[in-house]
Amino acid sequence: MANILYLISAICFIMALRGLSSAQSSKSGNMYGIVGMGGAFLAAILTAKFSWYPLVAIIIGGCVGILVAKKVSMTQLPEMVAGFHSLVGLSAVMIDCAAYFSPDSFHIVAMNGQIFTSSLIEIGLGLVIGAVTFTGSIVAFLKLKGSIKECFISIVTNKLIALAIFVSFVMFVLTSNGVYLCSLIVLSLILGITLIVPIGGADMPVVVSMLNSYSGWAASGIGFTLHNDLLIITGALVGSSGAILSYIMCKGMNRSLKEVMFSSGIRAIKGAFEERHNRPYTRGMPEDAAFLLKNANSVIIVPGYGMATSQAQHALKEMGDMLKKRGISVKYAIHPVAGRMPGHMNVLLAEANVPYDDVFELDEINSSFAACDVAYVVGANDVTNPAAKSDPDSSIYGMPVLDVEKAKTVLFLKRSMGAGYAGIDNDLFYAQNTMMLLGDAKKTTENIIKSL
Ligand code: NDP
Repeated sequence: MANILYLISAICFIMALRGLSSAQSSKSGNMYGIVGMGGAFLAAILTAKFSWYPLVAIIIGGCVGILVAKKVSMTQLPEMVAGFHSLVGLSAVMIDCAAYFSPDSFHIVAMNGQIFTSSLIEIGLGLVIGAVTFTGSIVAFLKLKGSIKECFISIVTNKLIALAIFVSFVMFVLTSNGVYLCSLIVLSLILGITLIVPIGGADMPVVVSMLNSYSGWAASGIGFTLHNDLLIITGALVGSSGAILSYIMCKGMNRSLKEVMFSSGIRAIKGAFEERHNRPYTRGMPEDAAFLLKNANSVIIVPGYGMATSQAQHALKEMGDMLKKRGISVKYAIHPVAGRMPGHMNVLLAEANVPYDDVFELDEINSSFAACDVAYVVGANDVTNPAAKSDPDSSIYGMPVLDVEKAKTVLFLKRSMGAGYAGIDNDLFYAQNTMMLLGDAKKTTENIIKSL
C-alpha cells in the first residue's frame, strides 16, 4: 500500500515540476505537489505502522511551515528558499550520522559486524553534500539578506580543503573510523563557507540554483540511506532541475559555471572598490513622468528588485491599463536574473494579473527598445547597466543586459543614486535621455497615476 502511494506521489511530483514550468499551469502544478506530499505523509504513517512519531513530526513541521509562510513577505522569499535548502543539508548530515552510529536500525551491517563498504561510500558522500549545502545555504541566506558581503578567498585554499576532504573520505571508507567521519563533516562545513563567501553579488543567482541542486542530491542521498524510493526520486528531480536551472542562469549571465565559482570573487572585489563620482544627473517629478508617458506611443516597463521591495506591481498594472486605454503600447521586459530569485518578477507581475502576453523575456524584447518612447525602469539597476557591455573590469561584464538606453527617454524609479546588488555605479543614471524619479517606486507610480 505504502509503495503504491509512493509511486503515485512520485508521479505527482513529476507533474508538479511540469506544471511549474509555465505561469499558466503553475497553479495546477502546485496542486499536484500538495497531493504528492499528502500521499507521502500517508505512506510514512503507514510504514511506521501507525506509530505517532511521523504524525507528530508532520504536525510540528506543518505548523512551522504555516507560520513561516504567513510571516515571510514576498521580498524575503529568496532568503527563505536558501534557508530551507540549509535544512535539507542539515538533515542529510544528521541522518548519515544516525546511520553510522546505529547501523543495525538502517540494515547496513554485514555478517562480520562491519558496515557495508557501499553504505560507507553512501554515508560519506551524503555527509559531504549535506554539510556543504548546509553552511553554503546559510552564507547564501546572509548574503541575500544583505547581512554579509563577499570577501576574497583564494582558489588554492578551496582546492586544499577539497583535497583534505577527499583524503578523509577515502580513509573513512577504508577504515570506517569515526575520526575520519568527524573530519569529513568539519572540512565539508568549512568548504560550504569558503566556496560561497567569495562569489560576487551579480553571480548569486547561479549560487542559489546550485544550492537548490545540491539540496536535491542531499535528499536523494537520504533516500538511499533510508531505503526510501520516493526520496531518491524526489531528490533526483530537484537535483537535476536545479542543475538545469544553474545552466540556464549561467547562460542568462553569459558565464560558465567555472567562472562563477572561481573568479567572480576577484571581479566583485574590484567592483566594490570602484570610485564613485558625484556626476550631474536630471531629476524629474511624477508630473514630468506622467507628461512623457501620456505623449508616448510605446512604453516598456522594466521591473527589478526595487519593484519587489516597494510592492509596486499593482500600481504598475493600474498605470499600464491607463496607458493602454489611451492607445499606448505597454510591454513588460524581464531579465532572467532580475530580483533575487529565478522567476521573481514573473511571480509578482502574475500576482498583479498582468497578462502573460504582455510579458517578454530579454531575448524577445531587447531589439524593441530602439523603437520605444519610454523605458520605465522600476527598481531595476544591474540588469540595465551598460558596464556589462563596455567595461571588462566590471563584475557584471559579459552579462547580457536590457538595452534600455536605446529608448528615447529612460525613467529610472529608485530611492537614491546608490548601487544595485552588484555594488557598482550605473552610467545610465547620468545619461542625457535619463530622468531620475527618486523615491519609493510604489509611491512614485501612484503619484504618476494621479497626474495621468
Ligand atoms: P538591483 O539589485 O541591481 O537594483 C535594485 C534597485 O532597486 C536598487 O538600485 C535600489 O536602489 C532600488 N530599490 C530598492 N528598493 C526600492 C524601492 N522601495 N523603491 C524604488 N527603488 C528601490 O536589482 P536588479 O533586479 O536590477 O538586478 C538583480 C541583481 O540581483 C543582479 O545583480 C543579480 O545578479 C542579483 N541576484 C539575482 C538573483 C536572482 O535569482 N534573480 C539572486 C541573487 C542575486 P535604491 O536603494 O537607490 O532605491
